[in-house]
Amino acid sequence: MSKLPGIQMDGRWIRSMRGEKSPVDPYLPYGWFNEQERSLGGEVSDVSAILLTNRECPFNCLMCDLWKHTTDETIPVGAIPAQMEFAFEKLSPATHLKLFNSGSFFDPKAIPLEDYKQIASLSSTFENVLVESHTAFIGEQCLEFDRMLNGQLEMAIGLETVHPEVLSRLNKGMSLENFKKSVGFLQSNGISTRAFILLRPPFLDEAEGLEWACLSIDFAFACGVDACSVIPVRSGNGALDKLALDAYFQEPSIHTLERVMEYGIRLQKGLVFADLWDLDRFSTCEQCFESRKERLKQMNLTQEHVKPVECSC
Ligand code: SF4
Ligand SMILES: [Zn+2]
Repeated sequence: MSKLPGIQMDGRWIRSMRGEKSPVDPYLPYGWFNEQERSLGGEVSDVSAILLTNRECPFNCLMCDLWKHTTDETIPVGAIPAQMEFAFEKLSPATHLKLFNSGSFFDPKAIPLEDYKQIASLSSTFENVLVESHTAFIGEQCLEFDRMLNGQLEMAIGLETVHPEVLSRLNKGMSLENFKKSVGFLQSNGISTRAFILLRPPFLDEAEGLEWACLSIDFAFACGVDACSVIPVRSGNGALDKLALDAYFQEPSIHTLERVMEYGIRLQKGLVFADLWDLDRFSTCEQCFESRKERLKQMNLTQEHVKPVECSC
């Protein structure tokens, strides 16, 4: 592990490194897209994903850039359902829905409780509805929302990393015990879970990034998650750019993401996905990038090993 910086990287410092937020409209989602994803049943499903505009997450994690598309205040009751209706007009039909809200769906200051019923009703044609939440907001309210849904609720939780020193420096306000308890609680109530795992958070070199991503997958499956999504860490939120300048952070390579996927899929303990968003920034070779991207896409969809790409890089 590289030397740790002497400065206290608390929420105040992390916020002080930020640039401006993007302008957002509380009645419009800030993004939406369709994708395909392997589902727990083993088939490839059509997914609609909506990036909901809402109040900024109260945690200020060191690696997070989701604050960029958020409001400072809680948005009005009815705004989230309006955003969903807007997105459904644009999206193709799908069986699975992902509602990403740049924070915790079950944070009442993010998604007003009064909107749950309408959100559930707008989601009634979907077999599966995935939302994300910090462990601090996981409790009875999840079960209440689950009961309102026609389909299955799936919860995505940021495990980030099991590296003890790095996890504490991420300012996440979550322990591994919190994660384990939340997954156990959801599992005992029939709600499936997926873990978000960071590939090469700050303070780790490339080899350590690989090792700790694999250890984090092991831990997540041991806790009982059904799926792991591996997210290569990107700079651009201010704090990480500052750490990169001081050599405490470097973005991982696509090669390492491939190694983590090979490891996770070989385990056959559950689904393992590589986050392919903005993937080209992790490659330095124009000759093999498209083949590597296709390889990762195939591994995501088939959950099987795909022959490695040969390239002189
Ligand atoms: S809990 Fe999630 S959304 Fe909130 S700051 Fe941390 S990473 Fe970002
Ligand atoms: Zn190459």
